[in-house]
Amino acid sequence: MSPKKKLLIVDDEIFFRDVLRDALEERYDVIEGENGDDAVSLAIEHQPDLIILDVLMPGNDGIEACRILKEKPATRKIPVVLFTSLSRKEDVVRGLKAGADDYITKPMCLPEIIARVDAHLRTKDYYAELEHRDLLLLLELSENISAIRNPMTILRLIVEKMSAIIDVARCSIVSIDNKGDIFVKASNDMEENEEIKLELYKYPEIRKSLESKQPVIINNIKDDPLMDSVRQYLEGLEYNSIVVIPVIKKESIIGSFLLRTASPLEGGITERIYKVCQLVANISANALENAMLFDSMKTAQEYFEEMSIRDGLTKLYNHRHFYTRLEEEFSRAERYSQPLSLIFFDIDDFKRINDTYGHSQGDEVLKQIGILIRKLARESDIAARYGGEEFAVILPNTSSAGALDLASRLRTTIREHKFTGMNEDHVTVSVGVSTFVDENMASFDRLVHLADAAMYKAKRQGKDHVLPA
Ligand code: GH3
Ligand code: MG
Ligand code: MG
Repeated sequence: MSPKKKLLIVDDEIFFRDVLRDALEERYDVIEGENGDDAVSLAIEHQPDLIILDVLMPGNDGIEACRILKEKPATRKIPVVLFTSLSRKEDVVRGLKAGADDYITKPMCLPEIIARVDAHLRTKDYYAELEHRDLLLLLELSENISAIRNPMTILRLIVEKMSAIIDVARCSIVSIDNKGDIFVKASNDMEENEEIKLELYKYPEIRKSLESKQPVIINNIKDDPLMDSVRQYLEGLEYNSIVVIPVIKKESIIGSFLLRTASPLEGGITERIYKVCQLVANISANALENAMLFDSMKTAQEYFEEMSIRDGLTKLYNHRHFYTRLEEEFSRAERYSQPLSLIFFDIDDFKRINDTYGHSQGDEVLKQIGILIRKLARESDIAARYGGEEFAVILPNTSSAGALDLASRLRTTIREHKFTGMNEDHVTVSVGVSTFVDENMASFDRLVHLADAAMYKAKRQGKDHVLPA
């Protein structure tokens, strides 16, 4: 029997180490560490076949340890699987950037962990059976690919390397969309950014692989029964055998990508070609999934960044972002000697609106006022919800007259607006306006103070007024 493979588990929490060891020690020799430094020193000392690394640890965290492991010649080839909490997807992205090969999330699912660990170690065995030159090319591909974060670049690199490794007439990656249409995403004879739509009925081998999620090998397209229905399209093709391999991870086809390789030789899909294709499909599954995760994280991150500066109800900027922008605009106005105005307004008797129509109707009024402000203000104006029922609009490069004009249009538009759910009842606002011009004040605080004071003066004068500072 071959000796047990070595597994290094690094987690600062003894609970997780115990659970993992219990699940894995029957099949593997388990070595344990409890921090980032252990991860590096134990990996160098024991040369494990796989490292499971917790992300959140005191001192050097798992990601830092992973980066060091992937830098050191003695440890860079050892696969690293990160172990992280499900709620911290951003760690996954940082980890993959640091060179991690895979990740497992907590709360953990033991059968999944065992399957993932087995799969990583099996892939390593499989490599051992290949010809040395294939091995080198595949390792190179795998190393290059894991650093790429753009799914299309990955696809192109795969087909390029594939056609360098094996003698093929064509190597392409096809993808199926949710309408069932098939596209060639990348091919060794295709330009960058090109995309070709295929008619699926002409490619029974792709259809069969999609349906079965299994590889399909056709050693001679001229006499394989699978090709009977498309015999008329096969004349004059420059290839005679085809292999289609689904790019699969965790039981599902990644975005339905299939690797289709066609060889000029009859019986051209040798064991070696098949194995290379299979390995490339495995390598691409990981890389593609990570790249797609990274892509979606990028948009999710942008989304959250945007949400963190906006008020959830009105979608106007929030209080904090209002100050960030006001400070910027104030320095700009000072630097370029431009005027800068500020409008503050507060809904009159809003408490009565809440009391009469209910709190959610009050929310609806706030939302609709947000829409009215956006309609009236210019693109360059910066509108914010300053507080509960208080709003602010920063007007860059706008004089007092211009600001008073917008202020009174805001006042009349709001008082004339028919708010849904309020019968014929009207909403009014009290407005204060302040302006920085000719260095008349030293800081943006003063601008806020003056607009606020003018607004309260308007309240005292009977509400539904606009007053300049
Ligand atoms: P004034 O004319 O002097 O401004 O009187 P007012 O009733 O508008 O002002 P007051 O400050 O007495 O009350 C403001 C009310 O606004 C109290 C608070 O419950 C309500 N409010 C603050 N934020 C929200 C919100 O997000 N939704 C709703 N529905 N009400 C809110
Ligand atoms: Mg009010
Ligand atoms: Mg108020």
